[in-house]
Amino acid sequence: MGNTRQREIIYGVVCASPEHLDAEGVLEAARHIMPKIAVGTVYRNLAALCDAGLLRKITMPNGPDRYDKNVAPHEHILCSSCGRMFDLSVGTDEIAKLFKDEPFKITGFTLTVVGTCKNCLLRSRAPGA
Ligand SMILES: [Zn+2]
Ligand SMILES: [Zn+2]
Repeated sequence: MGNTRQREIIYGVVCASPEHLDAEGVLEAARHIMPKIAVGTVYRNLAALCDAGLLRKITMPNGPDRYDKNVAPHEHILCSSCGRMFDLSVGTDEIAKLFKDEPFKITGFTLTVVGTCKNCLLRSRAPGA
């Protein structure tokens, strides 16, 4: 009972968030809707939603996996200060330009650009901060 409902809630949470949530973040938000939802339920449903192609799992080099509602091909830019992650569009053509002197046929790529987001930049420049 309630399996479909749980999956809908978890999918809804990821879709409603402007962030790229990790499982902890999804759990926290899901508990606002369904207070008794279990950690295992969240993990299991996130995996199932990824398998179904509704969500994309992003493997992070230094932290838990994140979940993305945007399943279209795109890359990410990560704020190393607050951990927020934003979508970034880079075309294969642009990557190919980097290798124009190399005989290399590009068939795919994964790119995460790391930096400091606008909020964190503003905060670090705020007087007295
Ligand atoms: Zn930031
Ligand atoms: Zn994304």
